[in-house]
Amino acid sequence: MTGVRMSTARRELALSTKGFMPADEGEALWNAALAAAASVHEAPMLEVGSYCGRSTVWLGDAAERSGRTLFAVDHHRGSEENQAGWEHHDPEVVDPRTGMMDTLPFFRRTMHEADLESSVIALVGRSPQAAATWTTPLSFLFVDGGHGEEPARLDFEGWTPHVASGGTLAIHDVFPDPADGGRPPYEQIYLPALESGRFSEVSATGSLRVLRRH
Ligand code: SAH
Ligand code: MG
Repeated sequence: MTGVRMSTARRELALSTKGFMPADEGEALWNAALAAAASVHEAPMLEVGSYCGRSTVWLGDAAERSGRTLFAVDHHRGSEENQAGWEHHDPEVVDPRTGMMDTLPFFRRTMHEADLESSVIALVGRSPQAAATWTTPLSFLFVDGGHGEEPARLDFEGWTPHVASGGTLAIHDVFPDPADGGRPPYEQIYLPALESGRFSEVSATGSLRVLRRH
């Protein structure tokens, strides 16, 4: 798959969508999802933490190419670090009627403009609650939801058991050096996944880590 890329139109759309996925990491995510689909037949993909759909464009494209469905889990109310007064707050995603964040309209617009509505299903709600009743094995799991200690731990516990054998777990915002960013994705997801003996690291691009399940 070297040299192959997502179409220019979708790439430009992803890069013009609000969010937190740099281009090189988006491409690495896309490549990892395509490779995962090639090694695990039929199983769907799932993303935890979609925000306005930036990463979802890369993953949705990979899902479409592989004939899979991508489930995109987000309550669309923002993580702690997205709330007013925090570093990653964007007042444009606040719903003036409620005063709460609501990224769902942005997400829907992105999926429509990307022409990905037949490959992506939004699950709007709390990640641990969705995980609690989930039973379908996943070819690809991307975890980029709440980055606090508790949300990260719950995503590890709730979702990683559903990665199929031979499937892939991708984790965003993994910072082994505390000087680079927050600890929970590293301490609560990445390290426990490796320590469980169920996953081995395949690649690292920026803060993205790609692990394969045995
Ligand atoms: N992947 C996105 C960024 C995700 S930001 C991109 O490429 O830009 C993290 C997202 O996780 C936010 O949209 C937030 O609403 C969501 N989130 C945080 N905690 C959550 C939880 N417990 N349940 C569902 N979604 C959650
Ligand atoms: Mg992220």
